[in-house]
Amino acid sequence: MKKHNFSAGPCVLPKSVIQKASEALINFDDGLSLIEISHRSKPFVDVMENARSLALELLGLEGKGYKALFLQGGASSQFLMVALNLLEKRAGYLNTGTWSDKAIKEAKIYDDIYEVGSSKSANFNYIPKGYDIPEDYDYFHCTSNNTIFGTQMQHFPESPIPMVCDMSSDIFSRQLDFSKFDLIYAGAQKNMGPAGTTLVVVKEDILGKVSRKIPSMMDYKIHISKGSMFNTPPVFAVYVCMLTMQWLKDLGGIKAIEEENDKKARLIYSEIDLNPLFKGYAVKEDRSHMNATFTLENENLKETFDAMWKEAGINGLNGHRSVGGYRASMYNALSLDSVKVLVEVMSELESKA
Ligand code: PMP
Repeated sequence: MKKHNFSAGPCVLPKSVIQKASEALINFDDGLSLIEISHRSKPFVDVMENARSLALELLGLEGKGYKALFLQGGASSQFLMVALNLLEKRAGYLNTGTWSDKAIKEAKIYDDIYEVGSSKSANFNYIPKGYDIPEDYDYFHCTSNNTIFGTQMQHFPESPIPMVCDMSSDIFSRQLDFSKFDLIYAGAQKNMGPAGTTLVVVKEDILGKVSRKIPSMMDYKIHISKGSMFNTPPVFAVYVCMLTMQWLKDLGGIKAIEEENDKKARLIYSEIDLNPLFKGYAVKEDRSHMNATFTLENENLKETFDAMWKEAGINGLNGHRSVGGYRASMYNALSLDSVKVLVEVMSELESKA
């Protein structure tokens, strides 16, 4: 039976990518597995270089002073790495959810943080607007897509200071002017590959401006100078990211996938809005195209609905504990057909109720 994987991350990846990745585990180079050859060998150095340049190419950032790195420690390590590398006196953070909150907490270890806006009191069901970003701060940090709450920034401010963005859950999913951002980071395990590596894309000229000593593993400049191979990189995760980015490029890049993502989002949200049994969690104008969060109007239907979607081969639909209800994560590799299956189950529930 076909599975429809709506997991929030780790999540669905293209089947062709998983196929190729599994072959490389057996025989990547001359009868040896990808995970048993040296990361300094030419075949792997080529993978790393290809992955780094594909990331810049897909984002339209080639030749614009940016470098791409594949680091370890998850997006969570970026919360502190950003602060260590950029925070001298004060930074401004937009608090739009659990992950922004954690980023703020980590940065506060190093210096003063000012929340330019927050939707915490509404349990993060919207994106704050109309906030000011002070010109004399070191940087502004935001989270483009809030995986848990299902909100997504549809507009980004004109920041007078370097703009840093956690794009863990919507990287490569929609066209943006990525050159507005000075540092982008994203854990691999949504739109790129398996957990274990984090993409960092940084404009080189924002680095080297803080007075503190930065531990080597935390220093972007060191990772850049070593071609993202300061220490042994997570070879398998980087390889899968490279394959996924190649898959996306062959599809027609971000422009092509954005059209698919728009169709999926329109379909699920129109069902949520038209079906009286369901209610969307995020305010309409800030709805995420990656994670649609919704609840049942009548909790008594939960058992029936849960049995129905499981029966249809759907996986990973339960909402995060801080929101409850359901979350349909529709990352790049999830097909429109899978969303159609979910929508059919939702409308079948309506006809049964
Ligand atoms: N930021 C966002 C937006 C996320 O969705 C997540 C993980 N779901 C993280 C950060 C943390 O990522 P990691 O687990 O790779 O540290």
